[in-house]
Amino acid sequence: MKAIVCVKQVPDTSGKVAVKPDGTLDRASMATITNPDDLAALEAALRLKDATGCEVDVVTMGPPPAEGMLRECIARGADKAYLISGREFGGSDTFATSQIVAAGINVIGIGPEDVVFCGRQAIDGDTAQVGPQIAEKLHLPQVSYVADIQKEGNSLTVKRMLEDGYMMVKVQTPCLLTCIKELNEPRYMSVNGIFECYDNEKHPMIVLDYAALKDDPLIEVDTIGLKGSPTNVFKSFTPPQKGAGMMLTGDAPAADLAGILAKKHII
Ligand SMILES: Cc1cc2nc3c(=O)[nH]c(=O)nc-3n(C[C@H](O)[C@H](O)[C@H](O)COP(=O)(O)OP(=O)(O)OC[C@H]3O[C@@H](n4cnc5c(N)ncnc54)[C@H](O)[C@@H]3O)c2cc1C
Repeated sequence: MKAIVCVKQVPDTSGKVAVKPDGTLDRASMATITNPDDLAALEAALRLKDATGCEVDVVTMGPPPAEGMLRECIARGADKAYLISGREFGGSDTFATSQIVAAGINVIGIGPEDVVFCGRQAIDGDTAQVGPQIAEKLHLPQVSYVADIQKEGNSLTVKRMLEDGYMMVKVQTPCLLTCIKELNEPRYMSVNGIFECYDNEKHPMIVLDYAALKDDPLIEVDTIGLKGSPTNVFKSFTPPQKGAGMMLTGDAPAADLAGILAKKHII
């Protein structure tokens, strides 16, 4: 049994968000982090490893520097890292990204007891489309918004968060789960892990380039990269800052609020 975790390196948007004059994100000038939902997905996979001894593989599609993020995943406890990288993959939208990551997962191989973990959403693209699209392309059952996981033999019972409650879902493996950051508290990298994660003999970085994926039926020139992307970013912009809020700390905040709104002729 193994767990395959899809992780994405994203710009750290807690700092200043840099936008280029053409409206695209200036990724080069921003620090990068592992997407927060993906850390929850990795932690869930590592807990499965703690409980069952399964292998945990991490996979990302990204530029060569994304290797650093994968090494950090190894320092947290992952066993193998796959970096899907190549010029041919550049400019991919969510359709093409999921096509390529799914082909990468086919190369890794999915067994009958395996579970693919994704984050629910990446904090830069923010579409929450890639996980469900990977499941579709691999013909796997999927459960999204997962907040708890129990494994019983070849099936998982998962708690799926809804806006105003939750749903318990039983799903057979192999399957794909998209995880939310409320699922768990990701563990820190261990000191040993930090020392070992750059040991190339113990943890080689397995790079999957175009040549490694091209024989997968999902990979065609018109299904990957900019050419294979049916969507285009029309415009992107930084929303204007909201004004500072006002705290109503008196004994009768509702009456105070009504007074303020009346003064502004809103009510
Ligand atoms: C309309 C549109 C056009 C775009 N055009 C371009 C473009 O021209 N050039 C460009 O560089 N980008 C482009 N992007 C961004 C690119 O499509 C996204 O970065 C990528 O498809 C992931 O989508 P997302 O960030 O919304 O991920 P989400 O769907 O929100 O991510 C969900 C989960 O999927 C997994 N995942 C997502 N991306 C990866 C990955 N790369 N590797 C491994 N796992 C992953 C993670 O587990 C993640 O938590 C475009 C996006 C959109 C919406």
